[in-house]
Amino acid sequence: MSEILARFIGTGDSESLDYYNTNLLVSTQAKNLLVDCGWTAKQALRDQGLTIKDIDAIFITHVHGDHVFGLERFGFESRYVHGGHRIKLYACESVLDPLWNECLKGCMGYSSDGKNELDDFFDIVPVSERFFWNGLGFEVFPTTHTVGKPSFGVRLPGRFTFTADTNAIPELSLIVQDDPYVFHDVYVSGDTHPAHATALELKRLYPSDLLGRIYAVHYGDDIMEQTHKLEGFAGWVRQGALFEW
Ligand SMILES: [Zn+2]
Ligand SMILES: [Zn+2]
Repeated sequence: MSEILARFIGTGDSESLDYYNTNLLVSTQAKNLLVDCGWTAKQALRDQGLTIKDIDAIFITHVHGDHVFGLERFGFESRYVHGGHRIKLYACESVLDPLWNECLKGCMGYSSDGKNELDDFFDIVPVSERFFWNGLGFEVFPTTHTVGKPSFGVRLPGRFTFTADTNAIPELSLIVQDDPYVFHDVYVSGDTHPAHATALELKRLYPSDLLGRIYAVHYGDDIMEQTHKLEGFAGWVRQGALFEW
């Protein structure tokens, strides 16, 4: 039996309706870590036969709706519907501050219990370069996504690297080392984008060895018409596809 499972409960870009938000579920020893929690996360989990109560921890890569808007539901429902189920919330300090003060506070700052802080809903675990969850050691690295907005990728050494949202990362070969799976944000609907790597850019910038390990995620609903752009890549991740170690 596999010790570690990874599956994307969604693989779409921020506009996608067909593939849900790009959120990654990592499972080991009967516990589940969600990497990012967008506005489709609850429904996407249901499609995998899971509920909010099945989630033990969440790591947040950056503050965009398709990566954090699900937290309002996960916070309220774990606290008030699932009997005080506590989810661990991992994120870098530079993400935690805007996550609460500029994103969630408006809808979660007050409830029937009165004034709330983020730790009334989640067990917060600030992260710098790495974090440990349920026996697994993850590494975190900065990415270049939106100007002025901190964003991070995450790596489970020897298993996978997940860039989350990013432009091309020139030093990515050094980061991923020999990881067999590199899940990378790839915009396929056009050849330029200010905030997301395009297939054309990655082909130009990355060595073929790295490109051959890259599985595209965070693509548009037109992916079926754009797969020819992914020649030289390992492929693209289907929603719900399982990776095992
Ligand atoms: Zn996104
Ligand atoms: Zn984003």
